[in-house]
Amino acid sequence: MAYTVPKLKDFSPAALDKAVEKLLAAIGDESDAVRNDADKKAFRDRWLARKDGILTQVNDLWLKPAPKEAKREVGQRVNKLKAEVEAKVEAALAQKPSAAAESAIDISLPGIRRPIGAEHPIIRTQNDIVGVFKNLGYSVAEGPVIETDYYNFEALNFPPNHPARDTQDTLFLANQESKSRREQLLLRTHTSPVQIRTMEKMKPPIRIVIPGKVHRNDPPDASHSPMFHQIEGLAVDTNITFGDLKGTLDHAMKALFGSDVKTSFRPSFFPFTEPSAEMFVSCFICGGSGKRGSDPCRPCKQTGWIEILGCGMVDPSVFEFVKGNGYEPEKISGFAFGMGVDRIAMLKYGLDDLQLFFQGDVRFLEQFG
Ligand SMILES: [Zn+2]
Repeated sequence: MAYTVPKLKDFSPAALDKAVEKLLAAIGDESDAVRNDADKKAFRDRWLARKDGILTQVNDLWLKPAPKEAKREVGQRVNKLKAEVEAKVEAALAQKPSAAAESAIDISLPGIRRPIGAEHPIIRTQNDIVGVFKNLGYSVAEGPVIETDYYNFEALNFPPNHPARDTQDTLFLANQESKSRREQLLLRTHTSPVQIRTMEKMKPPIRIVIPGKVHRNDPPDASHSPMFHQIEGLAVDTNITFGDLKGTLDHAMKALFGSDVKTSFRPSFFPFTEPSAEMFVSCFICGGSGKRGSDPCRPCKQTGWIEILGCGMVDPSVFEFVKGNGYEPEKISGFAFGMGVDRIAMLKYGLDDLQLFFQGDVRFLEQFG
């Protein structure tokens, strides 16, 4: 119940003390209800306002009607009370938080630690490889993961029914029977379609690397995954030779695996290159000896060599598909190469299970932070 200033009948010091005590207690009680800045103003006005504040009422109801003989004493008491009320009101208000203080940040509190993520080991390996070729003046090209049969196979010199198609267990999208073969959509089985897409857009000379995800219908195990990563490269210009291919890749392998690795090229077959080769690097784990101490070196299967990529001179029949954009097979030549990022990351980090990369186990990934 709100306090009201009583009229005094008894002006004796004892009666005054009692009235003062009640009044001061009421300040404390009423300050409990003060919540916000508007409450504070109302509270201060109620007690201290010159017009009709409680102190003014005390003046009117206690001092003015006091009998002559008590006036002096009451006057002193009321003056003292004014100072007490002002102090008590201000003290009560000071304990209430202000709106500004409530929204302010307490800079003395300890901060919130936000763990910063790290590059996934596959992405890091991919960036390392791309970085080596960027330094050689290559630019990065990317393309769609959902591709047409035309870009994934036909324009890369795999005609329909070519036996090389069987080596790539392709994941086709469902319900496309009404489309012609070349328009059918599939998950790209290699990053090579981006070679054609880039040559359609850019005239020679070009030097590009193409990192990206690819898919094949391989059940997951320690060395296979239905989704994995490739980096391809393509260089096209006048007078590009197999010597340029060897020199470029030999430099890149030394930049990636150390200046003392050796490279070796062995004949192979790919539909879109002629001649084609598989490139091996001397084993950077055992130094080419095939042994680690008295144990056999597993990554190179004790041969001292690790197969790292496929490569070759671009087959002139591939250029036929982009002939109109300046890729005339009689005038230009080029080389292409492609490597599996996941396998290189496994070798680099000494892992024997490819699946570790894709399980999202933070305990595994934290080791690469
Ligand atoms: Zn080895």
